[in-house]
Amino acid sequence: MMNRMLFPFFAILVFLSTACNSPVDKNRTPDPQPVAYEYALVLHGGAGSMNFENLPEPRQQQYKHALDSALQLGLDLLKKGGASIDAVEVVIRCMEDNPLFNAGKGAVFTSEGKNEMDASIMTGEDLNAGAVAGVTDIRNPISAARAVMEQSKHVILAGEGASVFAEEVGLEIVDPSYFYTKHRFESLQRALEKEKHGTVGCVALDRNRNLCAGTSTGGMTNKKYGRIGDSPIIGAGTYANNRTCGVSGTGHGEFFMRWLVAYDISALMEYKGMDVEEAAKEVVEKKLVEAGGDGGVICLDKYGRAAMVTNTSGMFRAYGNSNGDRVVAIFK
Ligand code: ASP
Repeated sequence: MMNRMLFPFFAILVFLSTACNSPVDKNRTPDPQPVAYEYALVLHGGAGSMNFENLPEPRQQQYKHALDSALQLGLDLLKKGGASIDAVEVVIRCMEDNPLFNAGKGAVFTSEGKNEMDASIMTGEDLNAGAVAGVTDIRNPISAARAVMEQSKHVILAGEGASVFAEEVGLEIVDPSYFYTKHRFESLQRALEKEKHGTVGCVALDRNRNLCAGTSTGGMTNKKYGRIGDSPIIGAGTYANNRTCGVSGTGHGEFFMRWLVAYDISALMEYKGMDVEEAAKEVVEKKLVEAGGDGGVICLDKYGRAAMVTNTSGMFRAYGNSNGDRVVAIFK
């Protein structure tokens, strides 16, 4: 009750202090104060070339069900007052355990027939971040990324060093064969160029107005042994800043790294005063398209408003907030 009464005043304070500190584009008239949700969560399960042929109705239903249950897990936690970082971890672990997605179990194969996974997490309150890259035996890479952030002095640990660390902090280590799925192995064999990506990501805003973003992936099918993508790179595949937004990306990682997609969205909001939707569209639909990089992003601003933007024909995605608004969608 108390929270509800104080919330509007708090939201106004946050809005005013941000407006005063940020250099805003003088040609823009500031938006009226946006509605703020008490909590919100947005997630993705990868973007790519999707149509009714490569994704028949029963398969769509499977994905929608998986997206919806992951969303519900996160929303339940936030509703009880849980922290955004816990919501992001729980949602991504759930998707990592689901072979439908290209993260954890279900990760795609390298050209050598192995699974090498990347993941990262970032908290918007303190710009703290952690990541793992090229890991082969950690069951839930997102939890390892969180452990790197909270229990080491570093931001990224890679390969064997990351596994040793994960084991030391008590995370579950599995035999690399755990990540084998027939579906992904056959994709490699066919070297399908149009394989939908299937990376997973989540951004959450909790009742304390803290944003957190996380991303987890098996990378790109047929990638070179040792290749690291954008997902563990802070600012490329993942970014969170309480002053602006949280972002998780999915798509052709080489472009997301070179165009620093996630940070660029935050920077456009901070320095140009764009809203989250405008900033996401500017980066994904203009800059990335001009560059030739395919993919999409999910973003949540500090008010809990989402932008889910892709320049591909589809992106598995879902959004929910404290008002009960809910979206689960696949096609553009
Ligand atoms: N961005 C990921 C990577 O390049 C792949 C994806 O999102 O599908 O590793």
